[in-house]
Amino acid sequence: MHCQQIIQFGEPLQARDYPTPEPKGTEVLLNVTACGVCHSDLHIWEGFFDLGGGQKMDLLQRMKLPFTLGHEVVGEVAALGPDAEGVEIGDKRIVFPWIGCGKCNVCLAGDELLCMAPQTVGTRYNGGYANEVIAPHPKYLIPYDGVPTELACTYACSGLTAYSALKKLSHLHEDDHLVIIGAGGVGLSAVHFASSVVKAKIIVADIDDTKRSIARQSGAHETIDNSDPEAALAKLQEITNGGAAGSIDFVGAPATSLFGFNGLRKGGHMVTVGLFGDSMPLSIAMLPLMMRTIQGSYVGSLEEMHELMALVRAGKVAPIPYEVRPLDEVNSALTDLQAGNVKGRIVLSPQK
Ligand SMILES: [Zn+2]
Ligand SMILES: [Zn+2]
Repeated sequence: MHCQQIIQFGEPLQARDYPTPEPKGTEVLLNVTACGVCHSDLHIWEGFFDLGGGQKMDLLQRMKLPFTLGHEVVGEVAALGPDAEGVEIGDKRIVFPWIGCGKCNVCLAGDELLCMAPQTVGTRYNGGYANEVIAPHPKYLIPYDGVPTELACTYACSGLTAYSALKKLSHLHEDDHLVIIGAGGVGLSAVHFASSVVKAKIIVADIDDTKRSIARQSGAHETIDNSDPEAALAKLQEITNGGAAGSIDFVGAPATSLFGFNGLRKGGHMVTVGLFGDSMPLSIAMLPLMMRTIQGSYVGSLEEMHELMALVRAGKVAPIPYEVRPLDEVNSALTDLQAGNVKGRIVLSPQK
């Protein structure tokens, strides 16, 4: 097994070779054909998440190094453990990475995302920055027939995250407005298939002129330049005649969160997705007075992954732009992503 691993947080990944892992029990070994490079890989590579107020969520105690990142994995089944059923050698599958312990109450109730001991592929289990990967059970392997391999991998995190956030606002009506904040990779994905999940009119807020124009081409009813928060809020109030029914913050910075919250009408619902970090001052009284809801959304469930792939295979989700690079060029992929020089997704290929 050839892989690119974190040897030390924040230092360049290093190539390592190990014997091919042998699948045990229900495990399945796959030959990796593509793996997306996600923005959250940058945080894990750095070794912490910024929680605001100088606080950090340190990953040092949670992860054993060396470690292989990569949670947007697609591969071909290469070997089955003795108890693995439902897939055959050569099957092409997306690996659903958001796996729970399988033993606790929430896992047994089918809500693995709420597990306090997650076994995520690419953050706990070694991931897809490699030519081989182990999936714990065939039930986490999702078919993607008719979808290009390099695109299919991006649905495991980027696409799923957008889908799950939109689904949390599927109660909105046709006359409502939904503000999508941040038209980067995940936000733009959401704009692309919003109309398949929510009825509300879509407004996209982004500080970048090009991204706003792409958002309009992708189906946004209106766009707002939110580089000046006060002017942006005034414009939002004007378009929506008093506030949006829903907002999704794909950035997760103090300014975007405040915009998403203050731009809500009474009974409005904000979904926070972005992990930029830091904290925001919140008027506590405005929560009850305006009956607003703030909800966090993290990736999506196995059920939502199946729903999303049904939409994708029905041609209802426009593809996001992606660029394929050889696995061994992972370090430049990470630094390009860090510098904001990437349009859409970088997808690593071990075959290149
Ligand atoms: Zn991700
Ligand atoms: Zn569990």
